[in-house]
Amino acid sequence: MWQIPELPANEPERLAALLACDIMDTPREERFDRLTWLAERFYRADVAFLSFVDAQMQWMKAVTSSAIGSSIERRRSVCQVIISEGRPLVVGDLHSDARFDGHPVTPLLALRFYAGVPLMVQDTLPIGSLCILREEPGIPDGFDISALEKLAAIAVDELALRNLNRDLTRLSRRDALTGLGNRRCFDEELERARLRCQRLNVPLTLLMIDIDRFKDLNDNAGHHAGDEVLRRLGVILADVPLRADDVIARFGGEEFALILSGGGSAEALPLAERIRHSVRQAQMNHPTAGTVTLSIGIATQPANAIDTDRLIIAADRALYAAKRAGRDAVMTAPADDRPASQAEERRVTVPGG
Ligand code: GH3
Ligand code: MG
Ligand code: MG
Repeated sequence: MWQIPELPANEPERLAALLACDIMDTPREERFDRLTWLAERFYRADVAFLSFVDAQMQWMKAVTSSAIGSSIERRRSVCQVIISEGRPLVVGDLHSDARFDGHPVTPLLALRFYAGVPLMVQDTLPIGSLCILREEPGIPDGFDISALEKLAAIAVDELALRNLNRDLTRLSRRDALTGLGNRRCFDEELERARLRCQRLNVPLTLLMIDIDRFKDLNDNAGHHAGDEVLRRLGVILADVPLRADDVIARFGGEEFALILSGGGSAEALPLAERIRHSVRQAQMNHPTAGTVTLSIGIATQPANAIDTDRLIIAADRALYAAKRAGRDAVMTAPADDRPASQAEERRVTVPGG
């Protein structure tokens, strides 16, 4: 008689391990498709699939046939038995096996023979399953589950590699000192933002943020003190409330950049002022200026530039106008469509204001 199996004792750890993989609802991947392909061929099965099982759903990452849907509620699935017991399950005939008598799904399936093994991470946590099914009932002659177990082990290794790659990609986009995105991250995100803003027909705004008289700080207080200011600035900038698509990154040296998708200069200005104030209020010691301050330049595409290279130049020009005006200031590039190289900057903030 069918009974919904109990949750495994390590269900919270199992779910945490699955969550850490960040794999549910991700697109198809060749590395998993080829394992189900091999499983189907090796066992002369009609279907092979590789699935992950969270609290509610069983979701197919790779499946060789449309005879199996892309997801099923966990409590209606066969594989929940594997998740519950953490060991392989072989059923000669899903229609006649007493364990599945009264199961809500198996009587409706044309598939009769089932063999599945858990995808086991950290030796004890079954986060999913690799299964084969055949329409012909009965355990085939000489059936040996060990090949399926080996393929499942490869799937788990592939998953670990995939996660490692993902972590390395994340690391390669991080700036080690400030914890913000680095230049690579900035370049990639600016291009993404450009495409997004173009698609949505909204402005793309860039803030160039530069520490004032940072060389003085390094020269007088030492490189370590300079690094500490950069680190603290990283914390302050990471705290700036942004929309999901907005990105803040270290552009290089003591210069930072904020990419805003969708808002123009008018929206960026209060944000820039807020950033400038919060750094003043942090009262980080500066040997010649008293406290560390920032200058910020703002430019928008398409008003100030026709491409992202020129957007950076326009924001840089506005930044240097802020420097020339006495520093601790925010400047926007003029709101007209002249090329940045011909534009006159417009003063927005007075120093110390
Ligand atoms: P301005 O107000 O015009 O921006 O003057 P500034 O002194 O801030 O600008 P300048 O470009 O002359 O100096 C920037 C300095 O930033 C020089 C460089 O040694 C220092 N710097 C760049 N990266 C780092 C870093 O990672 N750590 C430290 N401590 N200093 C850095
Ligand atoms: Mg500077
Ligand atoms: Mg600079």
